[in-house]
Amino acid sequence: MKPPPFSYHRGRTPEHAAGLLRELGPGTRVLAGGQSLLPMLNLRLAEPAHLVDLGSIPDLGFIRHEGDRLVVGATACQSAVEHSADVRSLVPLLAEAVENVAHPPIRHRGTVVGSIAHASAVAELPCAALALDARLTLLSADGVRTVGAGEFFTGAFITAARPDEIVAQVDFPVAGPGTGQAWSEFSLRRGNFPVAGAAVSVTVADGRVIDVAIAVCGVADRPVRLHAAEDVLRGATADRETIAMAAAATVAGLEPRADGDLAAHILPVTSAPVLGWAYRASVATSQVRRALTTAVTRAGGIR
Ligand SMILES: Cc1cc2nc3c(=O)[nH]c(=O)nc-3n(C[C@H](O)[C@H](O)[C@H](O)COP(=O)(O)OP(=O)(O)OC[C@H]3O[C@@H](n4cnc5c(N)ncnc54)[C@H](O)[C@@H]3O)c2cc1C
Repeated sequence: MKPPPFSYHRGRTPEHAAGLLRELGPGTRVLAGGQSLLPMLNLRLAEPAHLVDLGSIPDLGFIRHEGDRLVVGATACQSAVEHSADVRSLVPLLAEAVENVAHPPIRHRGTVVGSIAHASAVAELPCAALALDARLTLLSADGVRTVGAGEFFTGAFITAARPDEIVAQVDFPVAGPGTGQAWSEFSLRRGNFPVAGAAVSVTVADGRVIDVAIAVCGVADRPVRLHAAEDVLRGATADRETIAMAAAATVAGLEPRADGDLAAHILPVTSAPVLGWAYRASVATSQVRRALTTAVTRAGGIR
């Protein structure tokens, strides 16, 4: 299918792009890698009057280590992040999650920021961003504001970013000593969106969990942070029994949803089969157990 008609605008700088969003008004969408937006246009799931392309803005594809944060610019593509030695050593969860996104040609064009801004309930990167307490820098004609990932995802394909704001960058905390991170997902075919996936970051000292963050995707209209499962682990001995108890708390941290409701939120643009909520929740539970086991082992907890 062909996309509906739209006018195309090339941003020259982040500020120029934000100015265009304000000037052109509602009905304008940012174009980054186009790996979600173009299929949505072709399927008539979106019909914006204007597209503002960030792709030609110089110096926006950076990946930078700044103090205790790793900062990824709006046009840094997923494959650049995947192959960055800094990302792998400083924020291993991001490196592992991005490897699981789609296939290499898509990762070569799709951006990390674009995936987070798109806010699909089944996508790897919004879920990893939530577990990592990432921060989004939003730029508009009014200036800059920062929003934490915990407040950013407000619904299926809906975020706290206003239509006149671009996400200029995302930053992630660098993993500290004793921290292990892991991504785990189950998808029907390699490269498909996951049925459910889990992102974990855990810090272990003297055999005890001193900090932990767990998020899952595929079980709600947005990625979900599992505070109940985190509470089971925090302060506890980092062993297999505690991990099993924490994983068992996964479902308690989720709101049951009607299967049709979930399909409406999750299926657009993912071509995933309709799967029931209870099945997705049980897959999420097993992915939490797997990701926790790997992360705690990497943190030096389980031997
Ligand atoms: C065949 C196929 C398989 C895929 N499989 C997966 C998968 O397994 N897992 C997965 O997570 N993704 C998958 N994707 C989607 C892919 O990861 C996209 O690249 C990503 O979702 C969007 O990034 P993008 O840079 O292409 O953004 P675009 O498609 O350009 O934009 C997506 C949306 O985000 C908005 N946006 C983008 N950047 C910004 C910004 N800086 N500021 C404000 N708004 C912005 C756009 O306006 C648009 O609404 C797949 C895509 C395809 C085509």
